[in-house]
Amino acid sequence: MGAMKILLASAEAAPFAKVGGLADVVSLLGRSLGVLGHEVRIILPLYAPIDRSNLTPYGQPMIVNMGYGVEFCRLWRGKNFGIEVFFIEFEKYFGRCGIYGESGEGYRDNWERFSFFSRAAIDSCDFTNWIPDVVHAHDWHSGLLPVMLREQRLYRLNGAASVFTIHNMAHHGYAPPELLSFIGLPQKLFHPFAMEAFGAINIMKGAILYADKITTVSRTYADEIKTRAHGCGLDGLLTYRAADLIGICNAVDGDIWSPKNDPMIGANFSHKNLAGKKKCKAALQEKMGLSTDGDILLIGVISRLVEQKGLDVVCDILPNLLNDLRIQFVLLGAGDPILEGRFMAHASNYAGRIAVKIGYDDTLAHMIEAGADCFLMPSRYEPCGLNQMYSMLYGTLPIVRGTGGLCDSVENYDEHTSSGSGFVFHQLDREALYNTIRWACSTYYERRQDFMAMQKYAMQKDFSMDKMANAYLKAYEYAIDSHGKHA
Ligand code: ADP
Repeated sequence: MGAMKILLASAEAAPFAKVGGLADVVSLLGRSLGVLGHEVRIILPLYAPIDRSNLTPYGQPMIVNMGYGVEFCRLWRGKNFGIEVFFIEFEKYFGRCGIYGESGEGYRDNWERFSFFSRAAIDSCDFTNWIPDVVHAHDWHSGLLPVMLREQRLYRLNGAASVFTIHNMAHHGYAPPELLSFIGLPQKLFHPFAMEAFGAINIMKGAILYADKITTVSRTYADEIKTRAHGCGLDGLLTYRAADLIGICNAVDGDIWSPKNDPMIGANFSHKNLAGKKKCKAALQEKMGLSTDGDILLIGVISRLVEQKGLDVVCDILPNLLNDLRIQFVLLGAGDPILEGRFMAHASNYAGRIAVKIGYDDTLAHMIEAGADCFLMPSRYEPCGLNQMYSMLYGTLPIVRGTGGLCDSVENYDEHTSSGSGFVFHQLDREALYNTIRWACSTYYERRQDFMAMQKYAMQKDFSMDKMANAYLKAYEYAIDSHGKHA
């Protein structure tokens, strides 16, 4: 198949709007598809905090065809690494400081905001006379696109195939039944075999039902979401569509995350020479007020502080770990205020050995990846996870729970063959977590040769964007071939 026109619709795209890994993946995917010769356009809402100095308004105000009538919005245009990025400006919904909400509370009208965005994304194609071959929607925020492409009369756009990617199964996007008239979709969709669930509209359900191809961000997560434990109530539907569902592992942006040329870290290094990593460790210890001890095992965490990440269990056992083992611990994160407070309390009780920074800090994130010896990620579930991949590339061995993408990307240490790229445990309880950290600790102190061999191996892993982009291209071809053929 020749060059394709691909629209990537998402609530986040780096560097413009980022809350988590979704932003990095969308932007990197756009770039890598562009490098492979495809015509890519990313579209996202123009949130108030986005810097407009490098963006330009596009033409006259644009009509958005809502179910209740028309609205006028403005389309803006920018570029990121040569890729076209379009933005929907609409003060009523996006003129606020948050992306999804503020002070930990989601906006109550998120369903309106993102259904408006989805329809505006469609109208922007007609408006700019750019008709995509494939519309690739990400998570529930743009999940109405596959539904609208099939159930609305869009003329030129009805020919576009749709791909829906699930970055996180936990957020479905519930809306009241009025959504259908609000956005102009037929009332017949308010049915358990369509988009209805528990008396409301479940946007992700619609996306899964209508997309020509469904992907999620790791092979194991693609299996897990078909089970009751991880399917969040949509496991039956995903099983029904299993033939059209695949897992494509996220990639790492090698221009941003490479210890060889990362400008944010104390010294550069590679798997051939790890000397620079020692300097990064010293720089991290100094910055965070940890005692400067080049030999102590330093464990890092960078994370949203939410239940998914399992860090409450780390908090429970942190004093035991610190009392029993020769380790230091550094955490960068923000989220649940209770968890933030608990980590801060540990930091003041173990000054010099535990350092906690609450907030979002890109430079510090790079310094932790480079300076720590191990990286802890005990997630309850993890669709893909990026930090364990960054960690491996920086020779920082991940200690992870074997779930989703963590399972696919981290190979457990095998003492017999002295091989692996990290330490994996399965049951998320205090004992398993404690024992696995102790195992990493004993490997570091007592089998240093193995630890170093694992670091060098991990640093050479291939998480390149080409691999990811080629897998998505196959998914697009599949979607084009099967467009409109499934029930
Ligand atoms: P998720 O998308 O569930 O948050 P991922 O591991 O897939 O988890 O991606 C998280 C991304 O956000 C990574 O790029 C990580 O470095 C970054 N990140 C998360 N919290 C912070 C923080 N407090 N400061 C800096 N970067 C952060």
